[in-house]
Amino acid sequence: MKKHILIVPGDGIGQEVTAVGKKVLDKIAAKFGHEFTYDTALIGHVAIEATGNPLPEETLQKMKDADAVLFGAVGHPKYDNDPTAKVRPEQGLLRMRKELGLYANLRPIKLFDELLSASSIKPEILKGADILFFRELTGDIYFGEKGRKNNGDTAFDMAEYSRYEVERIARKAFEAAMTRKKKLCSVDKANVLETSRLWREVVQKVALEYPEVEVEHQFVDATAMLLIKDPCRFDVVVTANLFGDILTDEASQIAGSMGMLASASIGDGTGVYEPIHGSAHDITGKGVANPLASVLSAALLLDISFGLRAEADALINAVDKVLKAGYRTRDIADSHTTSKNILGTDAMGEQVLNNI
Ligand code: NAD
Repeated sequence: MKKHILIVPGDGIGQEVTAVGKKVLDKIAAKFGHEFTYDTALIGHVAIEATGNPLPEETLQKMKDADAVLFGAVGHPKYDNDPTAKVRPEQGLLRMRKELGLYANLRPIKLFDELLSASSIKPEILKGADILFFRELTGDIYFGEKGRKNNGDTAFDMAEYSRYEVERIARKAFEAAMTRKKKLCSVDKANVLETSRLWREVVQKVALEYPEVEVEHQFVDATAMLLIKDPCRFDVVVTANLFGDILTDEASQIAGSMGMLASASIGDGTGVYEPIHGSAHDITGKGVANPLASVLSAALLLDISFGLRAEADALINAVDKVLKAGYRTRDIADSHTTSKNILGTDAMGEQVLNNI
């Protein structure tokens, strides 16, 4: 198979982990006889420094032309501590999602058995947890009208959803549920928010098309509690942009670390695959970032954008073998990990490559 992949490392550890993601794609191509060509492009702080624009037109065009995008992260401390900055790295990310029509963010939360003790949740509660989150990505409070009034002393962000936006993500989630345990939990705050009442109404209507799927509706506050209390009760979870943003970071603890979680953003055009973590300024340049989320993002890319399931499994199995052999990056090490088994970013990448 011939495919063109755009590598967009972005900022901070995005640069470090995406380099590993590209290497594993190369190895897969060599092993399975595919021809992958690559290009790179700027986004975020590095793009602002080079062009003044967090998503340069050239990057956007390259994204539209590619068969898939392997993405790193955006963000820089300079902006985090300066709320008045008009041009910000995250603007690049939000505009990319809007321009590429990436309305569904898929976040599989699956714990590798070897990491049971790396989580802050008790192993007996965690064992068997396997959740697929669908986070809506192009609507909600992130994209509504925002501003200040009363001489700047009052701020507002408007949350907005259309029937169409809820329907298309709900349908994607129901379709995924049909290929899994046929259980779907829709998360909202319908007791308080009008957008949530529309959300629930639309999900209930779409549910009629999937009578085999067992549907439950949960409030977001209850879901936050249930994810920790009983993660195994969930199969597919579908929710709005803001709730999904928060709940999936919480759920990352089920997988042991932010450094283990991959995501796929899909929609009308090119799919974008990225770790769920950010640019992690605290560890940037130290060579300790966990690259496995980028490796697992590459697996999602192969599976979802190219339909290469066996190749994706080869990557997941390689990660499994490396963990079984006892190798860990610092973030997933526990009291049983010997110091010689604690690897840096590149050494962990090498172990994965050796096991493909
Ligand atoms: P973060 O995800 O970057 O880091 C949170 C914590 O997890 C940090 O302690 C970090 O060291 C650790 N961590 C994250 N990824 C890791 C990895 N691969 N290996 C080991 N440890 C890892 O979130 P943050 O600190 O809240 O934000 C830092 C910057 O990233 C901010 O500028 C923020 O805006 C940006 N951000 C970007 C994205 C994105 O690009 N999609 C997502 C979240 C945050």
